[in-house]
Amino acid sequence: MGRVALVTGGTRGIGAAVSKALKAAGYQVAASYAGNDAAAAAFTAETGVPAFKWDVADFEACKAGIAAVEAALGPVEILVNNAGITRDGMLHKMTPDQWHAVIGTNLTSVFNMCRNVIEGMRERNFGRIVSISSINGQKGQMGQTNYSAAKAGEIGFTKALAQESARKGITVNAICPGYIGTEMVRAIPQDVLDKQILPQVPLGRLGEPEEIARCVLFLVADDAGFITGATLSANGGQYMV
Ligand code: NDP
Repeated sequence: MGRVALVTGGTRGIGAAVSKALKAAGYQVAASYAGNDAAAAAFTAETGVPAFKWDVADFEACKAGIAAVEAALGPVEILVNNAGITRDGMLHKMTPDQWHAVIGTNLTSVFNMCRNVIEGMRERNFGRIVSISSINGQKGQMGQTNYSAAKAGEIGFTKALAQESARKGITVNAICPGYIGTEMVRAIPQDVLDKQILPQVPLGRLGEPEEIARCVLFLVADDAGFITGATLSANGGQYMV
């Protein structure tokens, strides 16, 4: 049996592509989601990957959710922190609710999830943690102080936990996608995509969710054990660090 992998927000968008790629590569996969039961049911029917519902911003819910996944599949050896939301607005108009929702779902969730799997990984001397950050955590983005702060925070968290965990066989890495053709991005009017977004991308196209999934596959492999604390950009050349 393959290693057990848990993908948060693994039922839609990039997360769904990650779940499918891991399953196709022989991992035992569980996907979490927040509340879109219809999408989760359709995803499970299509892929056979079980879906578990809980709010990743809630520490106790993460603890219970991970326990449910482990009861079904066994100890989580691979964690992909993918769940994320946007609540955009210029800072001078941003509400505390917009701020806290994004920090909770995109950053505190990473603490909540990692804290609840890290002891088991340390005991077993193996673990792979990959967090889906964003190009906007690297370069900042107008209208996204909350999102940029959360995504930059994921990168700092990744580097610190990588140092703490290295001697225990656990690697911790981040991926920073640029514009990926998920439902949200494809909903942008073609005119705006053509005139404002694609000209910023040297490759001249959106990325595909499957291209981010391949980055995850690479980083979680047993033989990727020398890569830790890394930030892997996958952005079509839009921002080079
Ligand atoms: P989607 O909106 O397509 O999917 C988000 C997934 O996360 C869904 O499964 C959703 O569940 C789940 N989710 C949202 N909030 C919570 C929560 N509180 N608890 C548990 N699960 C939750 O997102 P994308 O695929 O576009 O993005 C995935 C990740 O990639 C995010 O972290 C995003 O910031 C990052 N990213 C995306 C880019 C893009 O171009 N799309 C670019 C750079 C980074 P449900 O279906 O129930 O709502």
